[in-house]
Amino acid sequence: MQGLLILSVLLGAALGKEDFVGHQVLRISVADEAQVQTVKELEDLEHLQLDFWRGPAGPGSPIDVRVPFPSIQAVKAFLEAHGIRYTIMIEDVQSLLDEEQEQMFASQSRARSTNTFNYATYHTLEEIYDFIDTLVAEYPQLVSKLQIGSSYEGRPIYVLKFSTGGNNRPAIWIDSGIHSREWITQASGVWFAKKITQDYGRDRAFTAVLDNMDIFLEIVTNPDGFAFTHSKNRLWRKTRSLTSGSTCVGADANRNWDAGFGKAGASSSPCSETYHGKYANSEVEVKSVVNFVKDHGNFKAFISIHSYSQLLLYPYGYKTEAPADKAELDQVAKSAVEALASLYGTKFKYGSIITTIYQASGGSIDWSYNQGIKYSFTFELRDTGSYGFLLPASQIIPTAQETWLALLTIMEHVLNHPY
Ligand SMILES: [Zn+2]
Repeated sequence: MQGLLILSVLLGAALGKEDFVGHQVLRISVADEAQVQTVKELEDLEHLQLDFWRGPAGPGSPIDVRVPFPSIQAVKAFLEAHGIRYTIMIEDVQSLLDEEQEQMFASQSRARSTNTFNYATYHTLEEIYDFIDTLVAEYPQLVSKLQIGSSYEGRPIYVLKFSTGGNNRPAIWIDSGIHSREWITQASGVWFAKKITQDYGRDRAFTAVLDNMDIFLEIVTNPDGFAFTHSKNRLWRKTRSLTSGSTCVGADANRNWDAGFGKAGASSSPCSETYHGKYANSEVEVKSVVNFVKDHGNFKAFISIHSYSQLLLYPYGYKTEAPADKAELDQVAKSAVEALASLYGTKFKYGSIITTIYQASGGSIDWSYNQGIKYSFTFELRDTGSYGFLLPASQIIPTAQETWLALLTIMEHVLNHPY
């Protein structure tokens, strides 16, 4: 194992990967609004190169931030000087990345079928695209692959369509990986795809869903970003589009939708992790979904899967006004998180985006809800910060299993409440 570790580190260095040696993830506990504002001052100091993994939101909700090694002393001194408490969540980011690489390397194998595919490890874009083709070849009556566009760098953008017939049936949309570093989401998407083919005709409740509705699943919603997380920077979140006049790359594809675009809860700076992009739908990865969903015209649910924090959220993110269907969405969310918790006891909070986390503008489910797709939800999968975006591969299958129970709850509700 040690040999593999050394090999993977050497490989990483040889390939010019960004290294995170000595970077720490701090959890900052903010007691009041003044402390929140103080931490936001840190966010504006670009030379510190801080990467906020969670928050800042309001008082009482934790802020997780990755601090590069050269900034650690300054950040800790700043927090201490202002009487703001923090703990170290991740001691050394690079050692988690090395473990992840070692695990991937040790479980490498070319699967010939989706039965022998290893769902308990993280996969590259190429491996996931191979998986998609294999699945379609194995279940041609049930699954087809649609290309809905091409990414900024020219990669195909695929959606899996699960259908048992009919003509433009009411449909469920599920996307994962719009933020490329949230690897648990693409890995869960792969597992969901297989689960659908296994449970159809076997699980009574799910069979009823697929006998009446179609499911569209976009596993890798940001393929350029995802390829980049493997080749150069494991913690890349945004797209890879270029902005003229800036050396910073990419836009936050979940601030780029035409719903409160450019309002508070996104950044106009191309260097920010929450840069909203040049204009609504400027990112082709977003525009491709928008066109597809509009052309289809019969989506009844739109579900976007993110990590981390263990939340199930509904609109709105860009405004405080409650959605017209709040009472029903809240009830569905409650049932879904109860179903999720029934498997391993994993606790999710639920509510609207703006009341549960923070104001976020230009988000996908606000757009879908405003399009008239009532059942619009966002998941934030495991965990609550012990590993954050670097969730160990041993948690992939349990995470996907429990999330599936919540998805099934939502899908059954949609089936039983036609509109
Ligand atoms: Zn995300």
